[in-house]
Amino acid sequence: GVNPATTPATTAASEALFDRARAVTPGGVNSPVRAFTAVGGTPRFITSASGAWLTDADGNDYVDLICSWGPMLLGHAHPDVQAAVAGAVARGTSYGTPTEPEVELAEEIVARTPVERVRFVSSGTEATMSAIRLARGATGRDLVVKFAGCYHGHVDTLLAQAGSGVATLAVPGTSGVPASSAAETLVLPYNDREAVLAAFAAHGTRIACLITEAFPGNMGVVPPAPGFNAFLAETCRAHGALFISDEVMTGFRATEHGGWGLDGAIEGWVPDLMTFGKVMGGGFPAAAFGGRADLMSHLAPEGSVYQAGTLSGNPVATTAGLATLRLATPEVYAQLDATALTIRNAVTEHLQAASVPHTVQSAGTMFSVFFSGEPVRDFAEASQQDTAAYAAFFHSMLDQGVYLPPSAYEAWFVSAAHDERAISTIIDALPAAAVAAAA
Ligand code: PLP
Repeated sequence: GVNPATTPATTAASEALFDRARAVTPGGVNSPVRAFTAVGGTPRFITSASGAWLTDADGNDYVDLICSWGPMLLGHAHPDVQAAVAGAVARGTSYGTPTEPEVELAEEIVARTPVERVRFVSSGTEATMSAIRLARGATGRDLVVKFAGCYHGHVDTLLAQAGSGVATLAVPGTSGVPASSAAETLVLPYNDREAVLAAFAAHGTRIACLITEAFPGNMGVVPPAPGFNAFLAETCRAHGALFISDEVMTGFRATEHGGWGLDGAIEGWVPDLMTFGKVMGGGFPAAAFGGRADLMSHLAPEGSVYQAGTLSGNPVATTAGLATLRLATPEVYAQLDATALTIRNAVTEHLQAASVPHTVQSAGTMFSVFFSGEPVRDFAEASQQDTAAYAAFFHSMLDQGVYLPPSAYEAWFVSAAHDERAISTIIDALPAAAVAAAA
């Protein structure tokens, strides 16, 4: 079903690099979902990126719908971000002392979200790991509640029934996690109030925290039922447990105020702790956790919960994040919303025309396409989709110059650099890809 006129001339250079990579790196990649395991074929080795476009080692161009799995809100190599980063690099790349960009980025995060204090780390995984330690330290309890299909990074306690790469590879949990860590985690079906009430009824006095993705994006996009996040916040409060909203993916992406901007800001509830990453690092390794001042003061050096990092608050990374957030104005989010809507509508139109069962779900500017005809409310329903149809769709799009996430369980990300030309490249590729998915 692929239009041969648009099939890339060659992928020989990516194939040669993938062979070299596999000889020195497990699976040839440094994060599993990059490897194309779920869709087959050779991942493209990217040599440069600009705006909405990626260029691979063979010189093929692709419209990018991965956007580094979220961070590149403004598109690649934004000139103002590049200039800020170049300036920071020229002043030296790491001092191991406090710096002004850290203060400014923390102020920006405090201004946009309900957190009162912020601590920087270098990855989303570190952010959730540290938030959980803080929750345990502050409550004196051990148990953690999470939802099946929510991914919070590769933290021992949080890998149970995680989405994203874990779902893509159909790994039941993972080996290497001690039974004692797994035993401290209660995994519940998403959007299931009864299950939450039952877990708190049975274990309420031992639960340190409940962690959830504000608007889950790691099993595909599965929005909370109306009021579900508020219900979680309330249930935690009633049992003396902390409510942690993981906004590593949605933070400064779903809306200007993250996923919280879609419900909390309107309904008037506030998480005890939040985690951030991706967009706030502007394409550099930077992440953060934050929350109420009284809770955050349990952290060293004020309190007894230890947490630290050689490169935490790195001046280049925080400068990139700050430049990105300052450019991410309400107008930018409005444009991202419009772009996402145009792409969602076109996907629906062409999959419908080819009679491919599908469901498009979104959370602000984030969305994903399930190859299943029913609404998806939890991980069990996400797992019902036709992943073979997705693989055919994915490869047709790739051959026509559109780089989608190489897994049916991932959100699609747009950027402010997705202009008319990028959008029409996507739309022009859809008819053949829909036919390929139907085959
Ligand atoms: N939390 C969420 C919601 C995520 O989407 C991710 C990564 O995709 C993480 C945590 C982990 O972040 P990192 O990959 O930076 O460790």
